[in-house]
Amino acid sequence: MEANVYQLSHFTAMTIFNGPRELMERQGLQTVDFNQYDGVISPVNTSRAHWTFVYLHAITNTIFMFDPLNDTNDMALATEARAKFEDYFEMRRTLYGKADWVDIKWKPGTIQHSMQTDSDSCGVFVMMIAKQVMEDFPNIPVSIPISSSENMMCHHRRTLAKEILQASVSKEEYCSLCGHQDGPQAQDQCIWIQCELCRRWYHVGCLEIEVPAEDQQWFCGLCL
Ligand SMILES: [Zn+2]
Ligand SMILES: [Zn+2]
Repeated sequence: MEANVYQLSHFTAMTIFNGPRELMERQGLQTVDFNQYDGVISPVNTSRAHWTFVYLHAITNTIFMFDPLNDTNDMALATEARAKFEDYFEMRRTLYGKADWVDIKWKPGTIQHSMQTDSDSCGVFVMMIAKQVMEDFPNIPVSIPISSSENMMCHHRRTLAKEILQASVSKEEYCSLCGHQDGPQAQDQCIWIQCELCRRWYHVGCLEIEVPAEDQQWFCGLCL
């Protein structure tokens, strides 16, 4: 089964959780029909300092929340999320007459997961939880184990960064490292280099390498 899961923007999720109402109304997703989907996922950052994750599993009408810092919060967060999403779907009916997902009786649920052991890896955890949820879909993961030692967190960060970069669309006008058109130096001394294998472009300044000789083949970090 194709994973037919709608990914909310984290900004939309924040307005669903935090409001204010006027902001949430502008995130009403008028053109979306949730009946076409079997799930919704989103990272959630309501405090502007900590990432959690919400997962609406529409096949079982269950809303899951994951707090990477404290899994004893998950049930309370999921119960809160249920109320917030019920308000959100109700608002869409009021505003646009859209009844998709309004009548679903959602129930809160939890999935056992590992917890971060440092203070700054919530984002990494949220991404790994998202990955596991999507890999297991349409099934619900029994548990989401994430090794959280300092070494392993470093490994997860590198692996995720590489996966994102490899899955990303490379555009000729943009540097594959910084994502900008303008280089880190002033425009007149901005030198570009192209990988011989994947044809991605990079600012030499972003790579922090010497400019290779004209006749020398160069391969980027993804292709080496
Ligand atoms: Zn760059
Ligand atoms: Zn390459």
